[in-house]
Amino acid sequence: MKKNTLPDIKTQFSEWYLEVIAAAELSDQAPVRGCMVIRPYGYAIWEQIQKNLDERIKAQGYQNAAFPLLIPQSFINKEKEHVEGFAPEIAVVTHAGGDQLEEPLVIRPTSETMIHHMFSKWVHSWRDLPLKLNQWCSVVRWEKRSRPFLRTTEFWWHECHAAHATYEQAKQDIEQAHFGVYKKVLEDILAIPVISGKKTQSEMFAGATATYTHEAIMQDGKALQSATSHLLAPAFAEQFGISFQDETGTQAYPTLSSWGATTRLIGALIMVHGDQKGLILPPRIAPIQVMIVPIAKAETKEAVMQACENIHEQLKNKDIRVHIHNDDQSTPGAKFYYTELRGIPLRIEIGEKEARAQQATLANRVDGSKNVIAMSEITMAVQNKLEEIQQQLFDRALAMQQAYITDEDKLSEFGPRIDGSSGVAKTGWCGSKECEAQTKQYKMTIRCTLESQKHAHCCVCGKPSITDCIMAKSY
Ligand SMILES: [Zn+2]
Repeated sequence: MKKNTLPDIKTQFSEWYLEVIAAAELSDQAPVRGCMVIRPYGYAIWEQIQKNLDERIKAQGYQNAAFPLLIPQSFINKEKEHVEGFAPEIAVVTHAGGDQLEEPLVIRPTSETMIHHMFSKWVHSWRDLPLKLNQWCSVVRWEKRSRPFLRTTEFWWHECHAAHATYEQAKQDIEQAHFGVYKKVLEDILAIPVISGKKTQSEMFAGATATYTHEAIMQDGKALQSATSHLLAPAFAEQFGISFQDETGTQAYPTLSSWGATTRLIGALIMVHGDQKGLILPPRIAPIQVMIVPIAKAETKEAVMQACENIHEQLKNKDIRVHIHNDDQSTPGAKFYYTELRGIPLRIEIGEKEARAQQATLANRVDGSKNVIAMSEITMAVQNKLEEIQQQLFDRALAMQQAYITDEDKLSEFGPRIDGSSGVAKTGWCGSKECEAQTKQYKMTIRCTLESQKHAHCCVCGKPSITDCIMAKSY
C-alpha cells in the first residue's frame, strides 16, 4: 500500500485537489476531452446529495419528471438573451440515422426551452398553476478548460422549473427554494457556510430578471458558486406562448422560474473540508460514516472479528452507514490510510486488547483525537461523535471563510493584494457596469450583492454605493 504522497495543500492546492480525486477514486478522465467519469465512491456521495435535495424539493411541491436530451435548435433561438448566453457552449447534432437532419438538435445545456414548450400545452387556466417540476439529468456545455466536478463539458444536476400565476408567488417560491432547500442542504448537511446574495446583471443566468446565489469560500480563498435560483424574464412565457386565463377571465402570462444545483457540490466538499491526508466528508453526507478496522493477528482474529461484527450490527440497526475493513492483505496502517484518504469521518479500531476488555477506540477524522469507549455504550457514543464531527466541520469552515473576508474601501488597494495571493473583499459598489468591469484586471468578479449595506462609497469610482457586494476570484 502506498504512503500518503498528496501534494502540499497549502502551496499546491490545485494539484492537491486533482490528486485527492484520483487517489480517493472519485472520478476519472473520460476519453472525450472535458468530460468526466464519476466512479462509484464519487457517485455514492452524489446519491447522498441527491437524496437530501430530492426530499426537500418534493416537500416544496415539485414533482419529478423527465424531458428529452435533444432540443430543436429553433427552441433555443426563441429567447434572445438565452441564446446569446448559451451559444458559445452548445453542442449540436446535425446528422442522425445516416442523414443530415432538417433541423439541427441541440444537446440540452439546460431545459428551460423544452420545458416551457411543454408548459404551453399544459397551462390554460389559473387552476393549472402553480406548475412545479423537477428533473434529475446530465447536461452538456462545451468547456475549453475543464476541471473535475467544477467545470466539465457534461455534468449532472437537478433542474427545477415552475410557472406561477403572479410574480409575487414566483418570488416567494424561489426564495423558499434558495433559502429553505439550498442553504439548508449546504450548511446543515454539507457543513459548508455560504454567503447569500444576488448576481449582478452581467453575471445573471441568461434570460433571468434575478439570480440568487450561494457563494462558498474554498480553502485557497476562491469563491465557488454553489447553487443558483432564477426568476425568468417575461419574454420566456411570451416567446413560448404560455398564457392562462386568470380568475377574472383575463388572459395573462405566468411568471417562470428555475433553480439548479450540480455535481460541483462534490468539488466544494473536497475544497472546503479536505486536508493533507485527503478528503473529509461531513457525517450527514458521507456514504460510509463509520469504518470499523480490526487489528488482529491470526491467533486473535476470531475474537476481534466477533467484536467488530457485533458493533457493526448494532450501528446498522441505528441506520448508521458502517463498514468493516476486513481485508486480510492490508496492514492496520494501510487501512487507516484508506479510511483517512476517503474522508470517512469516524474510525473504530478494535484489537485483541479491546476485544477482551469489551472496549473500542473511536478515532475522529477531523482532529485525529481518540476515545476509548465501553462496548455497551458504543451506539450512543458513535451517534454523539458523528454529530460532534458534523458541527466541528461547519465551525472550522466558517472560521476559514470569516478569516478570508475583509471590509474594503478601495479596489486599487485590495485588488493587487487579492490578485497576488487570496482573499474576499466586502465593499461598496455604485451599480455601474464600468466599475464592475474594473475588478477583472485583478482576476476578480462581483460574486454577489448583499442585502445589508455598510459601505457608503463605490470601491472603484468613489460615488455613493447602492449596495454592498462580495468580490473575489472564483472557480
Ligand atoms: Zn462606481
